[in-house]
Amino acid sequence: MQYRTDKHGDALSILGYGCMRFSRKGAGVDIDKTEQEILAAFKAGVNYFDTAYIYPGSEAALGEILERNGLRDRVRIATKLPQYLIRSRASIDKYFEEELSRLRTDHVDYYLMHHLTDYSQWEKLRKAGIEDWIREKKASGAVRNIGFSYHGNTDNFLKILTAWDWDFCQIQYNYVDETAQAGVEGLRAAAARGIPVVIMEPLRGGKLVDKLPEEAKRLIAGDSRGWSPAEWGLRWLWNQPEVTVVLSGMNSLPMVEENVRTASQAVAGEFTDSDFALLEQVKGIIRARERVGCTGCRYCMPCPSGVDIPGIFSAWNTMYTESKFSGRAQYMQTVGLTVQPAAATQCIRCGKCEKHCPQGIPIREKLQQAHRDLLPFPYGIGVAVFRAIMLPRKKKSKTE
Ligand code: SF4
Ligand code: SF4
Repeated sequence: MQYRTDKHGDALSILGYGCMRFSRKGAGVDIDKTEQEILAAFKAGVNYFDTAYIYPGSEAALGEILERNGLRDRVRIATKLPQYLIRSRASIDKYFEEELSRLRTDHVDYYLMHHLTDYSQWEKLRKAGIEDWIREKKASGAVRNIGFSYHGNTDNFLKILTAWDWDFCQIQYNYVDETAQAGVEGLRAAAARGIPVVIMEPLRGGKLVDKLPEEAKRLIAGDSRGWSPAEWGLRWLWNQPEVTVVLSGMNSLPMVEENVRTASQAVAGEFTDSDFALLEQVKGIIRARERVGCTGCRYCMPCPSGVDIPGIFSAWNTMYTESKFSGRAQYMQTVGLTVQPAAATQCIRCGKCEKHCPQGIPIREKLQQAHRDLLPFPYGIGVAVFRAIMLPRKKKSKTE
């Protein structure tokens, strides 16, 4: 494992463990499987574990696994204040205490204001008393480093970056999103202020790995570097010295092993002109095919009408990055034939989802386009008939 330093000189593994995508078993986290994966990563030198209040079961699972293996003081925990739920100083305390309890610890090493998208959110937090709260928690040692995770535009990122003496920040960044959100401009601005940057969505929720178009996979496979698609995505990030930690949501041992190997070999500045040229070709192939730039982050969920927004968008993109058959088959499995109806036609156009989408997707409009494309005339009838015959009557979709 290689390490880069935080603002205070502490060594952080350049590969961080993203705890949002822990394997699930039934309604909860698969603790035993997750434990094996976390231990494999720890033994390979990973010391940064990133979770959040709103990741279902994640904080509690991480706390349990670290406690039962005696690892709490040998790793760094990053977790996040659900700032969108904060109304008062008392609510900040309430969520923080709950997080400490879930994580079975008395301090958080890296604490983030979760999912800022606009400077006004920081203003709201200030009015609730966040500045005094941060000073007190840092003085007591309950919070060791304070930061924020970000999904808005570059301008607002730069405003928030200078609004407080941050110890670190976290941004979405990958070779497809080089200029989206905080982007390379935000990354460099943070680095220029001595603020370490943690990267989320480095592989765009798998889109730069398994879900890459076959043409892009063939291009990568034929390159003399011999790197896998995941390796290209991660190495592109570590090629930039401004990047401190790259989070990967690992949920299999092979994934841990591959990422750890890459993290032990990547070198800042290793990319050649031909490496950049290859990724430009890959980006061109992806952009030409996708219908919507959804990363599957699920910040738009739950929809009050039960629409499975990321599921529909994922299937729609699969139609164009793989095949129409694959996309429609995926739709049937994940959306169309589920007992609980989740179709785009259930959308009542309330707009709630669009306020939370970090990619700025016009979700209502795109859902209608996706529906028409995924379920043209004969398919839509077929799904409706199947639902009427095969699914429990009280659960039937009203709309298909
Ligand atoms: S606009 Fe439609 S999809 Fe979005 S939250 Fe409202 S009902 Fe759900
Ligand atoms: S529509 Fe937006 S918020 Fe919802 S999963 Fe996709 S990228 Fe995330």
